Amino acid sequence: KPILEVQNLKKYYPIRTALGKTKGYIKAVQDISFTIYEGETFGLVGESGCGKSTAGRSLLRLIEPTSGEAYFNGEDIFQHHKRSLKKVRKDLQMIFQDPNTSLDPRKKVGFSIEEALKIHKIGTNQERKQIALQLLKKVGFTEDHYDRFPHEFSGGQRQRIGIARALVLNPKLIICDEPVSALDVSIQAQIINLLKQLQKEFNISYLFIAHDLSVVRHIADRVGVMYLGHLVEQGNTDDIFSNP
Ligand code: ADP
Ligand code: ADP
Repeated sequence: KPILEVQNLKKYYPIRTALGKTKGYIKAVQDISFTIYEGETFGLVGESGCGKSTAGRSLLRLIEPTSGEAYFNGEDIFQHHKRSLKKVRKDLQMIFQDPNTSLDPRKKVGFSIEEALKIHKIGTNQERKQIALQLLKKVGFTEDHYDRFPHEFSGGQRQRIGIARALVLNPKLIICDEPVSALDVSIQAQIINLLKQLQKEFNISYLFIAHDLSVVRHIADRVGVMYLGHLVEQGNTDDIFSNP
């Protein structure tokens, strides 16, 4: 069953002169279409600058797409007014290369994990804390870590906290944008295994963006290959990687 259907997504960034006139466009994403099914991982690969991140961020409307459609839960994400995106964003989360993007250095990590529950007015303070404590355990920490601050964690540990934060609203799909690229290879494998384990447990789908093919090979069921803004090939991971 499809969870996300992206059709003809385009994103052109205007190039402006010093006076603010548009003098051309960077065609970052040109007419890409793909479908992600329930419970699977779709890897989006390609060399740096080919448009992967632009595609991922457009789906969350962190940047506004130029045109296209993106059906999630049967509704077109691109048709929503910015104000009504809150509901979409509940089921669609994102993990970034740098976990500091989503962790406030001044907040206890426990608070960062449960913050989204508060925004969506879910549970009492005590219930929210219980959920955060459970998630801390799911990603390999103990309850004692609840009161710590991001700087007390290593890069890999911070990424685990970022994952816990992304899980708190029970999302159906998580967009992972180069989630392990900044980490040592041994830590990369741990994070990938954690993501796989959580996927099974919570039946999450992933859009997994990465330039490192060895990482994608380990996690993706299917892969889309981008080149200069185009999706030039897609298929089962084994087929894509067995090509000469
Ligand atoms: P990738 O994630 O594959 O590295 P990006 O989506 O970051 O690729 O970038 C695709 C293209 O869009 C690149 O040419 C990049 O320079 C350009 N680009 C990315 N973000 C912006 C932006 N905010 N403004 C203008 N151009 C951008
Ligand atoms: P296997 O041959 O069973 O894949 P490995 O030692 O290669 O055994 O890997 C063990 C686990 O670690 C794999 O299931 C995979 O998820 C993860 N892993 C290994 N190498 C990488 C890597 N380069 N990037 C991401 N995950 C990896």
